[in-house]
Amino acid sequence: MPDKGSDLRIPSPSGCRWCGVDEREHMQRWKPPVGWHTWQPPTLDQRKERMRARRSRRQSGGAASRAANPLAS
Ligand SMILES: [Zn+2]
Repeated sequence: MPDKGSDLRIPSPSGCRWCGVDEREHMQRWKPPVGWHTWQPPTLDQRKERMRARRSRRQSGGAASRAANPLAS
C-alpha cells in the first residue's frame, strides 16, 4: 500500500488513458478534451511514463534516508 498522498498526482499505470482513473472505479467521467467517456486502456507510452514517474518519486522521497553520509562524519 502506498503512503497516503504519495501517489496522489500519479495515475496508476493501467489507469484510463484520458483521466488516469482505474477501470473498476471509472464508470463515466467528464474530462477535457474528450468530455464524457468510458475507461480506455492507456497507451504503452503512458504506462511507461507513469511507471517512470512513480519510480522517480520513490527515489526522491528516499533521499532523506541517506542522511547518514559517511563522508560528512
Ligand atoms: Zn477516464
